[in-house]
Amino acid sequence: MIPVNEPLIAPNAKKYVLDCLNTGWISSSGKYLEKFEGAFADYLGVNYATTTTNGTTALHLALATLNLGPRDEIIIPDLTIISCGLAALYVGATPVVIDVDPTTGNIDPTKIEQAITKKTKAIMVVHLYGHPADMDPILTIAKRQHLAIVEDAAEAHGALYKGKKVGSIGDIGCFSFYGNKIVTTGEGGMIVTNNKKLYTRAKLLKDLAHSPHRRFYHEEIGFNFRMTNMQAALGLAQLEEIDKYIAIKLHMAKTYNDQLSSVSTLSLPSQAPWARSVYWMYAVLVSKNSPMVRDMLRTKLKEEGIDTRDYFIPLHRQPVFTKLGLFKNISCPVSDDLSKRGFYLPSGLAITDKQIRTVTSTIKRLLS
Ligand SMILES: *Cc1c(COP(=O)(O)O)cnc(C)c1O
Repeated sequence: MIPVNEPLIAPNAKKYVLDCLNTGWISSSGKYLEKFEGAFADYLGVNYATTTTNGTTALHLALATLNLGPRDEIIIPDLTIISCGLAALYVGATPVVIDVDPTTGNIDPTKIEQAITKKTKAIMVVHLYGHPADMDPILTIAKRQHLAIVEDAAEAHGALYKGKKVGSIGDIGCFSFYGNKIVTTGEGGMIVTNNKKLYTRAKLLKDLAHSPHRRFYHEEIGFNFRMTNMQAALGLAQLEEIDKYIAIKLHMAKTYNDQLSSVSTLSLPSQAPWARSVYWMYAVLVSKNSPMVRDMLRTKLKEEGIDTRDYFIPLHRQPVFTKLGLFKNISCPVSDDLSKRGFYLPSGLAITDKQIRTVTSTIKRLLS
């Protein structure tokens, strides 16, 4: 079986994690948390970073930090993980979905303004499958309309938008360190910002909102979103290897591109001229005129021992939201279309050239 994802564990991981066990620093204080947060902020070129329990809580914390709540609307791309819409619900705000760009699957900046109402407070941008969203037009709209920007960079550690690391461009950037992400802590997350007030507030809220003047006295609703020192130890070791990990992803994408470019019924991931994608997952689309549709191709690949994953299901099709009466008159034809035709190939950091060769030759045989 060729798994859709298999992680690599960094050389220093055992040493750092064992250090936590040997010294007893196993909970949510310790030097690895500070080191990991500091190194992550340095890597992104931001002033502040603070860890969370996962990427979903990072998004939740970002919205709570921005004081978003009932009566507020948050604009979100339709084609993304459920966490984005859930985070809006967790703070009592209303997610408003808009359609995506057909080439990258990212939020379509030309669709944002028509979705803005008096209640709109923020735009959540997702850098899907490792390719940056087109930030400049989004920044212009956000500035003109006084909206906050939250970047969900959970799939795009190290991706560049016009030379800038994604996650560092909006007001708050959110990351996930789940097992299949480019940097992993097993489960974990991070929020980053250049704004000291937002950073201080995020740190307060993620640690039960103890009053700064009196511990165990609480003036607002906090959370326990604290990462452990053991996870940070793993994260630090993984982060030390990030350049190597990104090089592996770029090599993987180039190898897939070279070997699949002759397959006329697949469209391969493209890269905008202003972007460096990190190809978190190598995502392809089955052409509309392909005799074999996506689900059939995926089933046949599975029979041959090749594991793949569908694209996300559009948020406006998710019962968790429609049951609440959300997204009633929404139409997102691009997101619907990509969601039906898209899937991703085995893309883990441990993938070998031989495995890629097996995947591409099997696809060619099945589609010939
Ligand atoms: C993985 C992911 C998340 C959620 O991260 P978890 O750590 O699994 O909670 C959020 N957004 C995107 C785009 C993701 O891919």
